[in-house]
Amino acid sequence: MSLRKSKGDTVKKPILILPCSGIGKSFGSIARDATFRVCDELRPGKADTLCLSLLVMGDKEARNKVASSKCIVIDGCPLACSKNNVVRSEGNVVAEFRVMDLLRENRGLKPKEVTFLDEDGEKLAKILADKLAEKVDELVEESP
Ligand code: SF4
Repeated sequence: MSLRKSKGDTVKKPILILPCSGIGKSFGSIARDATFRVCDELRPGKADTLCLSLLVMGDKEARNKVASSKCIVIDGCPLACSKNNVVRSEGNVVAEFRVMDLLRENRGLKPKEVTFLDEDGEKLAKILADKLAEKVDELVEESP
């Protein structure tokens, strides 16, 4: 979906990125940090996010937003809280990432801290952010 800005000039709807909360593990921190890097620094205007808890609570505005946007979900483990909550809210999941897959692909990086990102956690968040930015470009390009 694209929004008309002015004559002959259209603005495409941002891709929504939804990281899981992952409290108590570094996985959630990596997912959230990567999301903010993409929304704020790498692809501002092309990517947006919202708080997953709003979906869990059944917030109508949040549900409408995921249902009318292309959504990328990021989960820390196979329980897939982000994906499940977006699907349960009739959201449109078009791509999914798992932080555990990222750890498998980068075995030399071992984040240990859970309350903040240590050096390896930061490196993983940057790698994930680059992958997300690439996917956002692809999805925006495909949008009419
Ligand atoms: S997907 Fe895993 S890490 Fe993320 S919130 Fe759910 S249980 Fe926690």
